[in-house]
Amino acid sequence: MPGQVAVVGSLNLDLVLQAPRIPAPGETVLGACDLLRFPGGKGANQAFAAANLGARVHMIGRVGVDDFAAPVLASLASVGVDTRFVIRDEQAATGIGMIVVDADGQNAITVASGANAAVTLDDISAAEATIGGSDVLLLQLEIPMPAIVAAAKVAQRHGVTTILNPAPAQPLSAELLSRVNVLIANETEAAILTGMPIESDADIELTADALRATGVETIIVTRGSRGCARIGQNTLSLHPAFGVEVVDTTAAGDAFVGGFAAALAAGSQIETATVEGNAAGALACTRLGAQASLPARSALNEFLRSESVLPPNRS
Ligand code: ADP
Repeated sequence: MPGQVAVVGSLNLDLVLQAPRIPAPGETVLGACDLLRFPGGKGANQAFAAANLGARVHMIGRVGVDDFAAPVLASLASVGVDTRFVIRDEQAATGIGMIVVDADGQNAITVASGANAAVTLDDISAAEATIGGSDVLLLQLEIPMPAIVAAAKVAQRHGVTTILNPAPAQPLSAELLSRVNVLIANETEAAILTGMPIESDADIELTADALRATGVETIIVTRGSRGCARIGQNTLSLHPAFGVEVVDTTAAGDAFVGGFAAALAAGSQIETATVEGNAAGALACTRLGAQASLPARSALNEFLRSESVLPPNRS
């Protein structure tokens, strides 16, 4: 039985140029490819990820009324995300990521938050019934903090489980943390939250202690090719990564968070949801792109069967 996920977060259009090199200040580099456009934004990517895995997903946020909004909304609609609570802002532009990728795959990214920075408390109030009727609320940090806190308050009032992906990392208030049930951070974000880098498996124990002090019941630190660590108030479980042929790790974190949220919303235990997130993250690494690399339910189940996580007969 699919669950319902509300995502309150960012929607962007990523404009990408593949160029011979990233220009230095003042430099002009010729010879780039034609402009590529990819729907993105952590909110939209995670909404896409959860919907592609079968969750009923509502996206809450803002885009502009410019030409950049249509591909962003169309991509979400293609996997059935309900975008009725995505406001078309007449004053602000659709959020844009300007990305230059060089011949070695290194990139330089500049983001104009645009309409994402204009999400208001009223936007959250307007979506209260939808957030309150969901199984899971999914939050990141690419929209204004007051709106994030307001959404978490709505979820708490209605007994909805709140997952926070603290990206891009910034210090988090007790007002927000006290309303978060699951925190999912990558190693860089975890290090910013704790002030301690994670350089080895041994560092995970110290990181776990520091993260437990946030009071959040379940914390997951995603660790790239090392999988993830699941930290409870009295537990620490390490989940190794699934072995896959890596093509492009873009959006692996978004795949993990979306996969975890979809599973939790459908009633899975935290441990099962962690395995599904880990598998979704791994599968996203096997394909190029952001939303284009996020696995569908059939592909995830087939992968879980091939890894003997699911019995052979489950569809
Ligand atoms: P982010 O994309 O936010 O930097 P991570 O790099 O930690 O996040 O990746 C998120 C998740 O994606 C990991 O926890 C893991 O499940 C999966 N993943 C990432 N890189 C690999 C890899 N090389 N092999 C298998 N799984 C991976």
